[in-house]
Amino acid sequence: MGRIQLKNVTKSFGETQVIPPLDLTIEDGEFAVFVGPSGCGKSTLLRMIAGLEDLTSGNIEIDGDVATEVPPSQRGLAMVFQSYALYPHMTVRKNIGFPLRMAKMEQAEIDQRVETAAKSLNLMDYLERKPADLSGGQRQRVAIGRAIVREPAAFLFDEPLSNLDAALRVGMRLEIGELHERLKTTMIYVTHDQVEAMTMANKIVVLRAGVIEQVGSPLELYHKPQNEFVAGFIGSPK
Ligand code: ADP
Ligand code: MG
Repeated sequence: MGRIQLKNVTKSFGETQVIPPLDLTIEDGEFAVFVGPSGCGKSTLLRMIAGLEDLTSGNIEIDGDVATEVPPSQRGLAMVFQSYALYPHMTVRKNIGFPLRMAKMEQAEIDQRVETAAKSLNLMDYLERKPADLSGGQRQRVAIGRAIVREPAAFLFDEPLSNLDAALRVGMRLEIGELHERLKTTMIYVTHDQVEAMTMANKIVVLRAGVIEQVGSPLELYHKPQNEFVAGFIGSPK
């Protein structure tokens, strides 16, 4: 399960409202991409869903439960950031298993989940290495592995590939796409990159200054952009 609903959500920092009232539903199993220029509120929205940022008003429901009444660690969501935030002194095995140790899971179950995640991410040969001895792509895979082991209801990605070089980014996009195909878990993926949005999404949410300009499939946005902003941003043939 992993249906995420934003109902009349707003966010202000001090006097400045960065998200005017906003409604959005992400269906269970969808790969939704939030796309828009820098500063349009993508990270703020994702952080509110994750519980890392309070709402100013409105509600977020996850599978019908009001998320704001559930502590972030119990929302069943796993966030993957642009900075990998791996523990440098821990091996890959320990890094991936970290959230499970925090949850006091039994060691045998931890070992099993870590190995399953490592296999699916091609990290089996690197389990005893430290982050410093990995490539950028491998580090990002470890960060994703740490999310996978929690078996979350949804994955939240905030520009996870923007620190990688172009060639690696293409490969990692494919890997994340395959992961979605395999797990069929809801994913929300934030990016300012139109190509990433068009190639990865089932549902694209185009944002400008905290306002949703359009929601639709990549083809819908391409062929039927609702306004000049969407057309320009997506690169529609107009
Ligand atoms: P994006 O991720 O799309 O680049 P953000 O969600 O980070 O955009 O930011 C949206 C707006 O909110 C920006 O104008 C940004 O300056 C502002 N903002 C974000 N976080 C804070 C904060 N902690 N305090 C004040 N303003 C913030
Ligand atoms: Mg951001």
